[in-house]
Amino acid sequence: MDKITIEGLRCFGRHGVLPEENKLGQNFIISCKLYYSFEKAAKTDDIDNAVNYADAAKFITEYVKDNVFKLIETLAFHLAYELLKRYDISRADIRIEKPSAPIGLPFETVAAEISRKWNRAYIGLGSNIGDRKAYMDTAVKELASDDNIRVMQVADFIETEPYGYKEQNKFLNSAAKIETLYSPYELLHRLQDIEQKAHRERKIHWGPRTLDMDILMYEDIIINDENLVVPHRDMANREFVLRPLCQIDPYAVNAVTGKSVKQMYDELKSNEKQNK
Ligand code: ATP
Ligand code: CA
Ligand code: CA
Repeated sequence: MDKITIEGLRCFGRHGVLPEENKLGQNFIISCKLYYSFEKAAKTDDIDNAVNYADAAKFITEYVKDNVFKLIETLAFHLAYELLKRYDISRADIRIEKPSAPIGLPFETVAAEISRKWNRAYIGLGSNIGDRKAYMDTAVKELASDDNIRVMQVADFIETEPYGYKEQNKFLNSAAKIETLYSPYELLHRLQDIEQKAHRERKIHWGPRTLDMDILMYEDIIINDENLVVPHRDMANREFVLRPLCQIDPYAVNAVTGKSVKQMYDELKSNEKQNK
């Protein structure tokens, strides 16, 4: 994959566990790889379409100087996320060397390395109380205004019959393709915050709700525990999930079953026909 590399950037900082380190400071040597496709930059030969490495080096230097952490792990972690948010890159690899670390033995250097990226995820959206469209629009806006989320695509809102518990209004449903810096659990909590803001109440399972946001898939990650099941355990049985997903990404694959969205949708449709 294409990447810009900055190697051996000498920075001054006060990171360390010992109080002397926080007072006197020392040199940190930073190297980073910033991943992005060169396609557009190369075709236009325009710096506006490229990652400005002089700017990135300046940003790193200032970040290392202006913040104080005990651990180089913490510094590496924050730097990776700051760079991912600040530049149009898909992944950041950071290496932080601390050649004057207080080890008291002869050594060349000690280093912390981290790699972080934007993760592709699909979110299911639904509402069947009040101004359904307004709740769904607000949900998308909330996602888009979060620094840790990039909304890539939102499917058309479709009206669907209630699923499971039938004695309720019709739903509006949609799905969104996002890229996120949140872990699956952080993302779940963020979605629950947004639901709360929309005055979501949990009364009847599969019952009426102002807003429901589910994680449908997250990269090819598989999670199966009490609070989170990814890919969503019932997605293959739900037309209101598969139809919007089909519009966005018919060939996205469920990591558990290995089936594409389109395959799941076609199978659901043909089962429905057979059962009629
Ligand atoms: P369903 O998950 O079958 O669509 P629901 O959306 O009506 O049902 P909720 O009441 O919104 O269910 O959520 C119940 C719990 O499901 C949440 O507290 C959450 O911890 C858990 N959960 C498990 N997997 C997921 C997931 N992939 N996305 C969102 N919530 C999930
Ligand atoms: Ca749901
Ligand atoms: Ca839910």
